[in-house]
Amino acid sequence: MFGWNGTFLRVNLSRNKAVAEAYDTSFAFNFLGGRGFAAKILWDQLKPGVDPLSPENKLVFAAGPLTGFGFPNSGKLVVAAKSPLTGGYGDGNIGTNAAVQMRKAGYDAVIVEGKAEKPIFLHVKDKTAEFVDAKDFWGLTSFDTEKMLKALYEKSAGIVSIGPAGENLVKFATVVSQEGRSGGRPGMGAVMGSKNLKAVVFEGTGVLSAAHPNELKELSAASYREVMTKPNYTFWKRQGTMSTIEWSQENSALPTYNYREGVFDEAAEIGGFAMEKIKVSNRGCPQCNMTCGNVIKDSDRKQAELDYENVAMLGSNVGFGNLGQVAALNRVADELGLDTISLGNVLGFIMEASEKKLIKEKISWGKFKDTRALVNDIAYRRGLGSVLAEGVRFAAEKVGGGSGDWAMHVKGLEISAYDCHAAPAMALSYGTSSIGAHHKDAWIIGWEVEHGREGYGEEKVDKLIEYQRLRGGVFESLVLCRFPHAMLGLELEWYPKFLYAATGMELSWATLNQIADRTLNLIRAFWVREFGRNWTKAMDVPPARWFKEPLRKGPLKGSKLDSERYDYMLRKYYRKRGWDERGIPKKGTLQKLGMPDVASQLDRYVALSA
Ligand code: SF4
Repeated sequence: MFGWNGTFLRVNLSRNKAVAEAYDTSFAFNFLGGRGFAAKILWDQLKPGVDPLSPENKLVFAAGPLTGFGFPNSGKLVVAAKSPLTGGYGDGNIGTNAAVQMRKAGYDAVIVEGKAEKPIFLHVKDKTAEFVDAKDFWGLTSFDTEKMLKALYEKSAGIVSIGPAGENLVKFATVVSQEGRSGGRPGMGAVMGSKNLKAVVFEGTGVLSAAHPNELKELSAASYREVMTKPNYTFWKRQGTMSTIEWSQENSALPTYNYREGVFDEAAEIGGFAMEKIKVSNRGCPQCNMTCGNVIKDSDRKQAELDYENVAMLGSNVGFGNLGQVAALNRVADELGLDTISLGNVLGFIMEASEKKLIKEKISWGKFKDTRALVNDIAYRRGLGSVLAEGVRFAAEKVGGGSGDWAMHVKGLEISAYDCHAAPAMALSYGTSSIGAHHKDAWIIGWEVEHGREGYGEEKVDKLIEYQRLRGGVFESLVLCRFPHAMLGLELEWYPKFLYAATGMELSWATLNQIADRTLNLIRAFWVREFGRNWTKAMDVPPARWFKEPLRKGPLKGSKLDSERYDYMLRKYYRKRGWDERGIPKKGTLQKLGMPDVASQLDRYVALSA
């Protein structure tokens, strides 16, 4: 096999044992890598109903067949497990040199199972895996952990670690790498913490074998050059995703005061142009010439990174109009290993609860010191922080008073930074995303703004499915960043060429889309198997706030979602996906995708329609 190593590393922490396992070619051809591999491994190897924070859960690190070959934007790693935040399938990707090193060490994925007796870190170097006592590391931030590990190993080592939030099993703790690349929103850091696994260090000296090495080199160089010729390249290097603050403000989509509004009075203070004035450098993932992390000096005089999601969630959504303070909150969250999107949600929720006097504590919008203290309390599970550490769905159950209507999540995962009062397609994207309300699989709001906000028509459903296949299916399984294509317009024809050069396989987009559908259906089956008879269509519906409370200001004042028309769109979506009226894949759909075994297993939990 070219491209793929054909080997997984299975690590059992309870037994201090690591074994390399060969997998067959059909696995690679049917699921590609990354998200596809993780979904298949978790479906096959997890018993339904396991406690996500028990040794029975498995944590998967998975790369793609292009990882390590040097193609643009390919230095990423998927981390996946059953999510402690949602109870369903959870994953995320991290820009990290660990992805490259893992592949050079000879593995396409590492499956971590069991639980270490005491805190350890894992050192994987080529064919060896060492279980190292981490008592001197436990309690450190993710930044300090990586710094200390860097001093112990080669400079080229790739490291992923958790901060105190992961150790304390905060349900939205992430896995962090390279001071600010953080991933695994639905609590992948907590799963790592539950296994007493502080960090993984990867070192690989092997050479990946490509089907057409010369062509690969040329393609790689040509595609980097091509990225740089795109008209938006220079502006992207200046602002990365930060220009989206102004865009969202103009289009009433900037989450503000816990998604009550889509415009923020101080948006200009936290936007891309304000950032440019204080920017000191760019940071980014390995193997990328678009480096979209904007580094500034934060209000603590420390270097911190900014991008759209963290600025919207820790800025407008919680009432902060000071970029230095937003950056400091973001840095602290990364150090602690907290997901910034979920963090901005729980903070916004509790500020609103305080304003409405549903809790006794006074937590006001935009108060820096109090907010920073609360962020630390969440990571260390102190007082109110301990409630918020469980996520916004749980917090609303505790707070009561109808707060469930404005606890902004889908399936337990807090919503990313796009207000949907006037964006039905984006609302459907959140409703049907593979991990709960996340934007990455299908950022359709950009298209929706251009093609009409009001409609709930079929063309929006078709577009959504197209985006989900491409971004949530193909890119996540190749483990490639979507930005060159999505933001700069790098043509899709490049990707099958990359695959051909690396693997020797000529895959058409029709085949790639079918692989994407297989993975997305398998993930859906995973959710349904976990929830069994409790699975309902309501799990695909975003929070009541967007349906009940119209926007009170901005150009789209008075807008809100229409629940009947949303339901119409959702039913259309199900039909096009080959799912029944409950949103469950039909037997025929799973069979057509080559998964009759999944159909018969799922049928035992929820009788499937034909
Ligand atoms: S564009 Fe940004 S997110 Fe994508 S690979 Fe580059 S640095 Fe990472």
